[in-house]
Amino acid sequence: MEIKQRGVTVWFTGLSGAGKTTISHLVEKELRTQGYKVEVLDGDVVRKNLSKGLGFSKEDREENIRRIGFVAHLLTRNNVIVLVSVIAPYQNIREEVRQMIENFVEVYVNAPLEVCEQRDVKYLYKKARAGLIKNFTGIDDPYEPPSNPEVECRTDQESVTESVKKVLDKLEMLGYFVQ
Ligand code: ADP
Repeated sequence: MEIKQRGVTVWFTGLSGAGKTTISHLVEKELRTQGYKVEVLDGDVVRKNLSKGLGFSKEDREENIRRIGFVAHLLTRNNVIVLVSVIAPYQNIREEVRQMIENFVEVYVNAPLEVCEQRDVKYLYKKARAGLIKNFTGIDDPYEPPSNPEVECRTDQESVTESVKKVLDKLEMLGYFVQ
């Protein structure tokens, strides 16, 4: 039997290497296991199709986020749980997207720059420090932290399991798991 569900966009924002992909994939896995309809919009994947050709200037970053926000809005209003995992460094555009989407939960995936740089999951920090990548968030491009996120995961201080649980608990508390 298909379960009833309310749509919601869970928006993971944070520096590269903070843990957005790791947490969102585990949340996705758990929700699918429970039978929910879930879609993931991951920054790296989106930039290869929906936002192909866009760069990393402020304008292009904003356009990228608007496109993702629009798709998330369409899915959310059709009762899908949408997990968005993108750096989305600018506060104003995240707010714009929040206004566009009826049910919106912001997750600030927070680890200090030093920790993200130390992890350097994709060796991007090394490249940015060497000047091979320009406009890299945290190095030579800004990141504006959310002022009032629904959830904050301090991934330098908590385990992946704890971070995932925080997100699921919040969704439960907000009533998104109606069965
Ligand atoms: P992002 O998607 O934000 O660029 P990734 O998920 O690709 O980041 O990488 C985050 C790295 O941090 C992974 O290697 C992950 O195992 C590690 N990590 C350590 N603690 C946590 C945590 N609590 N939550 C998420 N990731 C964590």
